[in-house]
Amino acid sequence: MRDDPDNDAAAPPADLADGLTPQACDVLFAEATEYPGSSPLNAEKRDGTFVCAACLTPLFESSAKYDSGTGWPSFWRALPDAVATRVDRKLARPRTEYHCARCGGHQGHVFADGPAPTGLRYCNNGVALRFVPRGEPLPEPRR
Ligand SMILES: [Zn+2]
Repeated sequence: MRDDPDNDAAAPPADLADGLTPQACDVLFAEATEYPGSSPLNAEKRDGTFVCAACLTPLFESSAKYDSGTGWPSFWRALPDAVATRVDRKLARPRTEYHCARCGGHQGHVFADGPAPTGLRYCNNGVALRFVPRGEPLPEPRR
């Protein structure tokens, strides 16, 4: 994940750095992509909430998670106003990037080949999320 030469300065803002791995920083702050199948969250099937690993804001509910077969945690809906999008032209075919609306941390890309009812597939990097099982208190968002 750190083999991109212009990608080793993924320093997080100081107020968001706590608890983040170098891999998470590369994804969140340099738009790196984790290896498919590498995230333990692929297999996470409990009820709960997925929060931004950087600022701890809730982004997805487990009820919107599904197995897309891609190797990345996938969701068909984000929580209201939790993420914002922009066009990513790094590849020949433009994609829609999305990021945490609160801190701007990159989460993944959203595609129009998801299941009903939205038809959307939020393809998320697992390292950019933290899972909070139902019944455990949600962390206080920071920043
Ligand atoms: Zn965030």
